[in-house]
Amino acid sequence: MSIGTESPAMAGRPVLILGGTGEARALAELLVEAGVPVVSSLAGRVSAPRLPVGEVRIGGFGGIDGLAGYLRESGVRAVVDATHPFARVISGNAASACGAAGVPLLRLERPGWSQAPGAEHWHWVDGHDAAAEATARLGRRPLLTVGRQSLDRFTGPLANVPAVVRVVDPPEHPLPEPWQVLRARGPYTEAGERELMESHGIDVLVTKDSGGALTWPKMAVATAADIPVVVVRRPGPPSSVTVVDTAAEAVEWAATA
Ligand code: NAP
Repeated sequence: MSIGTESPAMAGRPVLILGGTGEARALAELLVEAGVPVVSSLAGRVSAPRLPVGEVRIGGFGGIDGLAGYLRESGVRAVVDATHPFARVISGNAASACGAAGVPLLRLERPGWSQAPGAEHWHWVDGHDAAAEATARLGRRPLLTVGRQSLDRFTGPLANVPAVVRVVDPPEHPLPEPWQVLRARGPYTEAGERELMESHGIDVLVTKDSGGALTWPKMAVATAADIPVVVVRRPGPPSSVTVVDTAAEAVEWAATA
């Protein structure tokens, strides 16, 4: 693929990809393949992140002002916010900082699961506190797949419940005594998810509406087995930002940004 429409003034100036997702890595690959320089930015939360191709920087920018300063100094031509659908602080910061620095911004966000098979049977909730309450009501052996940073919202309502918690990196805070922690990183398979749920006697699955294929198998398995599924709705991107849902569309946008 080549990007033939970029202006001479833009040639050589990088596209900043706010990353930490598979979509961000796919976009970096497509842009590098097209000869567009990229800088991928990672928060630095995960101990051994999967790195995209091209240049990578790691760590926060220091809020809106820090990011706006970075954009001015680095000569970034455009920003694609390809962060996780639940990483709302950085998305809000990107919208404000790009506005302040006069840099075009696009949001790349994979579609959620609200239209997926079985979605009408799931328990959709607004936020982790509501998810914790629903979980306590629906089962005795939950599988929590909400990410390490959200676990403290579940510790109160599920303090005496033998929850199974799946995380990439170890939790930062002590968890209730009956909880069991499993360390794993996707992609997952339906066979593996079925084995996990059966062997642990899981009777309720808890997840965010992350969307995408990598973590979909747990949804398919729970739905097929009539295991209740609690899904935290997405917070939604900043309203002012154009959103696309594939890396290929983001490449098209970057060609003219
Ligand atoms: P967040 O709450 O939206 O952001 C908190 C702070 O982390 C931001 O203010 C920023 O610090 C820094 N940050 C976040 N993403 C960054 C990036 N790509 N590059 C540089 N700094 C970044 O984010 P979060 O929910 O903690 O997620 C952190 C990262 O993990 C994101 O990049 C996201 O794509 C990835 N991730 C998140 C989830 C999730 O469920 N939240 C799941 C999978 C992957 P400064 O203000 O100092 O700039």
